[in-house]
Amino acid sequence: MDKSIEVRNPRTGKSDYVIIPPPHRLLAQQCQRMRRAQARWYALGVEARIETLQSWKQFILKGRDKLTEALIADTGRLSMSLFEIDSFIANIDRWCLKAPRLLRVSEYDTSISYIKLQQTAEPYPLVGVISPWSLPLLLSTVDTIPALLAGCAVIVKPSEITPRFMAPLQATLNNVPLLRDVLSFVEGGQETGAFLLECVDLVCFTGNLETGRSIFETAAEQFIPAFLELGGKDPAIVLESADLDLATSAILWGAVVNSGQSCHSIERIYVAEAIFEKFYHQLVAKAHRLQLAHPTIESGELGPIIAAKQAMVISEHLQDAKEAGAVVHCGGIENINGGWWCRPTVLTEVDHSMKVMTEETFGPIMPVMAFKSIAEAIELANDSIYGNGAAVFGSEEEAIEVSQHIHVSTISINDASLAIAIPEGETNAFKFSGIGEKRFGAVGLNRFLCKKTLFTKTKPIQNPWWFDS
Ligand code: NAD
Repeated sequence: MDKSIEVRNPRTGKSDYVIIPPPHRLLAQQCQRMRRAQARWYALGVEARIETLQSWKQFILKGRDKLTEALIADTGRLSMSLFEIDSFIANIDRWCLKAPRLLRVSEYDTSISYIKLQQTAEPYPLVGVISPWSLPLLLSTVDTIPALLAGCAVIVKPSEITPRFMAPLQATLNNVPLLRDVLSFVEGGQETGAFLLECVDLVCFTGNLETGRSIFETAAEQFIPAFLELGGKDPAIVLESADLDLATSAILWGAVVNSGQSCHSIERIYVAEAIFEKFYHQLVAKAHRLQLAHPTIESGELGPIIAAKQAMVISEHLQDAKEAGAVVHCGGIENINGGWWCRPTVLTEVDHSMKVMTEETFGPIMPVMAFKSIAEAIELANDSIYGNGAAVFGSEEEAIEVSQHIHVSTISINDASLAIAIPEGETNAFKFSGIGEKRFGAVGLNRFLCKKTLFTKTKPIQNPWWFDS
């Protein structure tokens, strides 16, 4: 069993919250109860499940202020906390609209005229969701909503680094008994997450590659499906034909949104040699305009680095780059009264021998490198173990052509990190950024269904190979 866990405040560095993970025995019993409730939840039918989620939404809206307050305490930032809550609510509505069509039983003719086929499905009874600290509310609920609508029960284990939002969320859930029986948020760390894997029928994990590997191994032992959404090192390619003003603004946004703590952050930038100088001067000038949200949360755009362990990674990558000859034009990471803060940081004189170009940094760091040919730009962009996303800037035709050669799940053309805001595209994970179908598009719900086929003979005709016997 995990012992009590002290939770650090990202703005002050002080521990000001404690979580106490439940004993494994109680967690196992809770999962048993949820399994029993799931059968009733599924039997209700999709329309009743939609009604229940809509009723929960009303309580979320009523409890919004408390939820916002807790999320801000968890993350130390304001506008992304509001974005998370808005996106969470929008997700409920979006999936409620889509679910009836996605859950409809379809009937087909088959190659044998008197046999009809019914394509049906049943939900995995108990889904486990294990989520990280970077977008605590959004990533704890993004897979949960479609799973609930599919008819599953869902047990969520958010990150021990950002657990404060759970209490006000649970308070809203307590008003909806039907849902409370099939949806739980559990406090705990690594040990609780690992134990949960023994209790569920399917796991959705969002987190880092190393943890993902361990979860995939356990899922294999348990013989359960695992959907993993892991790290990234998204490249941006700026072609000579690019609109520089647009490219620098979009890349800056893509690199610093949520202070770079997003799996779709732009983490490395390749620019055509002819426009390289102009590009990085403009990027630096724009980066200087952004401020830290310190001393007050309204003071600027950039919140703190939420997890102290991530601040160490950012510091290490910057140090490694500087020692290897990188030039830092602006920014840097510093500890202010216990909190870790990182200004938008632009580097040049970088190459792929440096960690900042090859390992996930997860901070607002923009290393910029010149390329001589489009083939070189593509090669550099693909030179990564990750394949989450990318951005290409240039004339539309040229940029789309380049994008065909980049091995990642999502590509923004003449914009950056659009996958954060647009949940419609259907994708698979590429390389070490994950395993399996990802959470967006119709498959985001279908993943929670175990498909079944029903063959029905519609005429009393004997099968031909029986005649001889
Ligand atoms: P992490 O892997 O350290 O932790 C994620 C969750 O897993 C936490 O809830 C943690 O308690 C739990 N956990 C840790 N070890 C476990 C184990 N052995 N068994 C079961 N559960 C375990 O990741 P993090 O530091 O919280 O998050 C940062 C990472 O998340 C980054 O690599 C980032 O790229 C990734 N991320 C990916 C996406 C995406 O959609 N692809 C989105 C956001 C963040």
